[in-house]
Amino acid sequence: MKVVDTIIFFVLIGLIAQAAIGLSYLISSIRELEKRASVFAGLQFAGMAGAALLFAYGWKTGFLYSGSGIGILICLIAGASLAVILLVKRTPANLKALQGMRGAVVGEVTRFDERDVVFARNRTIRPGTPQYRTYYQMRPEYEKSDAARRDKGGPLGQPGVIDQPEDRPNIAATLSCQGIAMNLSAPETYQPAANPEFKGHQVKLSPQEATDRIKGYTLNLGAKHVGIAELNPLWLYSKRGEIFRENWEDWGQEIKVTHQYAIVLTTEMAFELVGTAPHTPTVISSMSNYAQGAAITTQLAAYIANMGYSASANHVRHYDAVLVPLAVDAGLGETGRLGYLMTKDFGPRVRLAAVTTDLELVADSPVDIGVEDFCKICKKCANCCPSNSIPSGDPTEVNGTLRWKLNAETCFDYWGKVGTDCNVCMRVCPWSHASTFPHKIIRALISRNRLSRRLFLYMDDIFYGPKPKPKPAPPWARFSS
Ligand code: SF4
Ligand code: SF4
Repeated sequence: MKVVDTIIFFVLIGLIAQAAIGLSYLISSIRELEKRASVFAGLQFAGMAGAALLFAYGWKTGFLYSGSGIGILICLIAGASLAVILLVKRTPANLKALQGMRGAVVGEVTRFDERDVVFARNRTIRPGTPQYRTYYQMRPEYEKSDAARRDKGGPLGQPGVIDQPEDRPNIAATLSCQGIAMNLSAPETYQPAANPEFKGHQVKLSPQEATDRIKGYTLNLGAKHVGIAELNPLWLYSKRGEIFRENWEDWGQEIKVTHQYAIVLTTEMAFELVGTAPHTPTVISSMSNYAQGAAITTQLAAYIANMGYSASANHVRHYDAVLVPLAVDAGLGETGRLGYLMTKDFGPRVRLAAVTTDLELVADSPVDIGVEDFCKICKKCANCCPSNSIPSGDPTEVNGTLRWKLNAETCFDYWGKVGTDCNVCMRVCPWSHASTFPHKIIRALISRNRLSRRLFLYMDDIFYGPKPKPKPAPPWARFSS
């Protein structure tokens, strides 16, 4: 009898634990204003709590010692063991992901010209200037569409036009973030010299100690993740295209970076603001994250300079490199179907910034968190994108790399239409859910197991719907559409 009692006890604990997870999921769904998920989470909690109560009753009345009771016990144990084996066991690694961006290279890669970035074209180049003539002689195919965008006021068109004019506070909040990055766009700020107090004195650190100090300092400044990559020159822009301080002599010049390492960091986009995408609160989150990334990288570059090494901050008002490949090589995540970095903790709901340096560091290894396999079956971002800019097929070869290629032209046109940076793809992605206990468990499972990916993707559609709608904003960022 003692052995049976021990088995019954552990099964009961298992049922109570599942009911507790259901309750925690119910609470987090209510907090996240997820009505549909709250209903299903409530049903799940009630089911598991009811099962635990019935089980406890069966134990008390002696039913579980009868033939039928033992049968139920065996079924429960077999079911739980099967679920653990099928849903928790690590599936074979994606060797391509473990090579980082090198794993994606299938042909000749040409460095990307920053002048071709849609912002550089629309924000930097002014009609009637020599740069305008030079650029559109080189790329005549963009002239007409860029002119149409400029007529609407630039890539974001009329800021916040999707919401009512009384939502101006949200636009005011968005624009308030711009000054920080702008003020940090001067060369002496993004590539600082050592403080005079330390001039000429280089601190000698082992690569491991330097890495530990750099990572600790970066996280202490507010980054959510930090990783180190050996800087692959393929991901550096070839020519300068963004001009912020009337430094026109730099426009079209080759970007030369001799640093060997990139320190790449993420900041988390606010869940409750991204939840409103494409409405105005989401762009407050984007811009405040860019400001945060600019502040962190500028301080980090100055920290390294004060130790006697060269460092350059890469943030929204100064990029030498394309950051998603650097982040993949730094082990922060994988590239998703929507073209953004997908992290294990927040999915694509992050912004990136980086510092390149000649300080010798220990590079991190790229990771396999199951994103490629998940994105192949998911397609939620592609199905929900209002401008059909995200491909729904398999990855294709783009500039020598095999990946999903977002149509930046149609995406930015939609930004111009709504007057925000949209972020619908980020909002609907199953990896973007709030970082609460139940979602952490799910992300841990889908990172390691193929079957879990299929099961939880199916459940995501049931709990949140195949095309989830925007949610209301917190009161301070409310909007009316
Ligand atoms: S930001 Fe919006 S328009 Fe652009 S790809 Fe994402 S969902 Fe589509
Ligand atoms: S929505 Fe789905 S397909 Fe798109 S990035 Fe997220 S997981 Fe991948």
